[in-house]
Amino acid sequence: MTSFLNSSDVNQKIADFNQDKIALALSLLPEAAKLAVVPVSQFHVGAIAIDEDSNFYFGANQECATASMGQTVHAEQSAISHAWQRGAKRITDIVVNYTPCGHCRQFLNELRGAEELKIHLPHSRDNLLSSYLPNSFSPKDLDMEERLLDHLDNPITEPAGLDKVAQAAFQAAKSCYAPYSKAYAGVALDLSDEIITGRYAENAAYNPTLPPLQVAINLLRLSGHHTKDVKRAVLVCTEHGGHQEMTNALWEQVGECKLETVFVK
Ligand SMILES: [Zn+2]
Repeated sequence: MTSFLNSSDVNQKIADFNQDKIALALSLLPEAAKLAVVPVSQFHVGAIAIDEDSNFYFGANQECATASMGQTVHAEQSAISHAWQRGAKRITDIVVNYTPCGHCRQFLNELRGAEELKIHLPHSRDNLLSSYLPNSFSPKDLDMEERLLDHLDNPITEPAGLDKVAQAAFQAAKSCYAPYSKAYAGVALDLSDEIITGRYAENAAYNPTLPPLQVAINLLRLSGHHTKDVKRAVLVCTEHGGHQEMTNALWEQVGECKLETVFVK
């Protein structure tokens, strides 16, 4: 199932169906919602994040039946982290089939360009995020310069002797978004012929924070894989921040191999 449309695919569909970009994304929401993994809620939310080049990144809510509710990834988080992992620099629009919940409004407020970010629903287009989150608390309130999706090069040192999978997890930690705690973390999931990574993403309000394993599992599922296909799982993180405990708690529920942890400074 498709979870990504590049800008040339998007422009071709716009021409073929004679509709604008947002109308096209709205028409694709049922496809995005099919990507939901919802053993608990049975409630399918689909979202599409659109970047400044008009690439479409699909997302959907991701649940785990045996993990705590707090480990759930919402559809907007799914689409944004999908875009981040594919290298998107700036999201201009979020198209989603239900009104964003409070958790997601705060998550979206962390993005570079949040002030101009538009939310589009089947019944209501062109809503600024600020109309859903007036008088918001944001990175500005903590005098932070960094924003989610910025290119970051965190000050951690690669330990000697890492293999290819652990190096991928290290690179994820090196470029994760942890300006508040400096608790850098990245995960790599090895599928033998492909390595899928996830990066940690914080928020000015601390919650909602998106842990690296959720980001990786989200991308894994959107790419058509299953956690049982993972041959090795590696977490690279700082000792502070509680990443090892949090990551293990979820991986023990969904993974079939052991999670390896490498601490960095
Ligand atoms: Zn939400």
